[in-house]
Amino acid sequence: MLNRQGRPSAAGEAAVADHPTFTGNRALMIEEPLLFEVGRLDTTGVDVEAPGDVPSRLGDLERSDPIGLPGLSEPETMRHYVRLSQKNFGIDSGLFPLGSCTMKHNPRLNEKVARMAGFADAHPLQPVSTVPGALAVIERLAHYLKELTGMPAVAMTPKAGAHGELCGMMAIKNAIAARGEGAVRTVVLVPDSAHGTNPATAALLGFSVQSIPVRPDGTVDVATMRQALGPQVAAIMLTNPNTCGLFERDIVEIAEAVHAAGAYFYCDGANFNAIVGKVRPGDLGVDAMHINLHKTFSTPHGGGGPGAGPVVLSARLAPHVPLPFVLADRLIEQAADAPEGATPFGRMCAFQGQMGMFTRALTYMLSHGADGMRQASEDAVLSANYIRASLGDLMSLPFGDQPCMHEVLFDDAWLKDTGITTLDFAKAMIDEGYHPMTVYFPLVVHGAMLIEPTESESKASLDLFVMTLRDLALAAKRGDTERFAGAPYHAPRRRLDETRAARQPVLRWRAPEPVREQEAAE
Ligand SMILES: *Cc1c(COP(=O)(O)O)cnc(C)c1O
Repeated sequence: MLNRQGRPSAAGEAAVADHPTFTGNRALMIEEPLLFEVGRLDTTGVDVEAPGDVPSRLGDLERSDPIGLPGLSEPETMRHYVRLSQKNFGIDSGLFPLGSCTMKHNPRLNEKVARMAGFADAHPLQPVSTVPGALAVIERLAHYLKELTGMPAVAMTPKAGAHGELCGMMAIKNAIAARGEGAVRTVVLVPDSAHGTNPATAALLGFSVQSIPVRPDGTVDVATMRQALGPQVAAIMLTNPNTCGLFERDIVEIAEAVHAAGAYFYCDGANFNAIVGKVRPGDLGVDAMHINLHKTFSTPHGGGGPGAGPVVLSARLAPHVPLPFVLADRLIEQAADAPEGATPFGRMCAFQGQMGMFTRALTYMLSHGADGMRQASEDAVLSANYIRASLGDLMSLPFGDQPCMHEVLFDDAWLKDTGITTLDFAKAMIDEGYHPMTVYFPLVVHGAMLIEPTESESKASLDLFVMTLRDLALAAKRGDTERFAGAPYHAPRRRLDETRAARQPVLRWRAPEPVREQEAAE
């Protein structure tokens, strides 16, 4: 019994309970047990020929217990994995407004190119002379990254945004050590609005982190930052556009002040997708910036999927680029082969980086062209501002009604006295078929809701999203707490104890204890 909005009224909840199914499944929402529960230890999906009469050379190392792997037939296996795959919500199933993560459409052309045998089957240990095409892909992509950022050098090997931060900050640390100031410059300034990976990176490298507050307009407090600068400061790590979805307008002034104090300017460029083709970070005075290829240049990501975080470097940091790198069609793998003046600090990973990401990103660049990439940035910003303008009268904008970049940040001031929290609101979006936005991040605002629609949603899709959020917001303001308190009502799982799941993950399946006869009889 659903009301007009298609959600259960109190009676609807009861109706679901009143119509239990024999299997426990709900229509085509089918429960799927673990592989160990589906399969049986004594069965197998393939007929393996009995081993011939060969003498065992394992001696007393021969296994005496069964290996404990469940056996399934081929159709059972197929169903298990297909059902699991259907439990995923992804960008291919619907709008995924997860701020800061850039969940946009991944063109299938990228996938097609990445699967071409010449790329997909290349082995990292193959003789270099047999993979000139792969080297050309790395060098060409590096060229475009330098072109788009206006920076003279790039380290291609880091395997994610956070790994890129580590690489850029290691280059900075080495540059400082080369100047003989390693013992003195030990502080890294990080604005409050930074992504959590920024202070984590600085701390991992042994720097102490000093936080810089944001001003009421959501940008870095430049006056406080100036006061914090001194001979002890190694670098500032600034995100631009920042995690409030705002462009740091004083970035040139910040860069000049940082340089005047003898420090380096690290820019977190994960939000590069808002400014590609509009502004070159090199022109703003940036010394190092990672680019999330998997966000800006589109590859399937999230849930720990592969990423790539190349770091562009200024002329001052270029000598400290890690190994290996491609230079004029040549793979430089040893410090001894590096050009004059280069002092690579080592390697970030075993081989040349995420080749699959490189082919995808280059395909994206070539298929969009310069004008297409610029338009993608413009459309991403336009979409976010459309959402801001369409919801700003109902939901509160913590930094006032100013234009945003590729994502729009709301806080929970508008929910005051409703008894409904940001989390409730996000969970109610699941009932409406939407992945929630990013919640409670950035930390600088209370009850943050960060929406990044990206350029790949149509106007019709954005309109439906806006209408849905307006409907939810009006319900919240009306005091329809029931719609939120137990949400999601329609999902196979309701509210989980996420903290416990993170703190005490159960990663190992154990066979249930057989019920002892005596207990069973009782
Ligand atoms: C996504 C993101 C990162 C981290 O990138 P990963 O690839 O997840 O390591 C860092 N900073 C910002 C602003 C981001 O949005």
